Amino acid sequence: MKKSKILIATTSNGKARELARLLKKLPFSFVSLKDIGIDKDVEETGSTFEENAVIKASFYAKLSGMLTIADDSGLEVDALGGKPGVHSKRFAGEDATDHDRITLLLSLLNNYPAHQRTAQFRCCLVLSEPKKIISISEGICEGIITSTPQGYNGFGYDPIFYIPKIKKTMAEISEIDKNEISHRGKAAKNLSKTIINRKIIT
Ligand code: IMP
Repeated sequence: MKKSKILIATTSNGKARELARLLKKLPFSFVSLKDIGIDKDVEETGSTFEENAVIKASFYAKLSGMLTIADDSGLEVDALGGKPGVHSKRFAGEDATDHDRITLLLSLLNNYPAHQRTAQFRCCLVLSEPKKIISISEGICEGIITSTPQGYNGFGYDPIFYIPKIKKTMAEISEIDKNEISHRGKAAKNLSKTIINRKIIT
């Protein structure tokens, strides 16, 4: 098994871009599914982010024979009992766009005042070898769902995710600033520590 390269097993350009920057200090080179010619999908049948990230990481590690990182993440809205949660991507249907998902979410929260629009982004990162899971790390970021989209950076639900501490949405800050405070940034910090402490480096 090659340890000098890590496969970032995601088809989301936004996630891949953020992860590449977040993990770039580690002495590995990173390759994408596309780089190694994998276009197979795996069904995300888990009921938690952790279960889905484990499914994806072990599937692609086996398929590629490489050390693999998978990300499962999404938005949990308190007023909706934690929805869309693990269904964040498919929330508005299989072929829906970010715009469709945001429109649906805002319509469901239409009558809710700001103090009842609390939410969190959650990210689970799993590092796996072909035969075993090596590490699982999680990060969360708390915020409030706005009533209209604001900002053009980031991806997914970023334009409606307002962070009171910085008085901006996730889409109004740079990717570098997002990585400092985001769910993915926190999960990646924990994962980096594990990789360094367990000396998973050749
Ligand atoms: P999955 O992990 O591929 O099942 O999809 C996660 C979905 O959650 C994405 O398609 C986005 O809609 C949303 N999501 C995950 N992370 C972020 C983020 O950092 N910003 C905005 N939306 C996100």
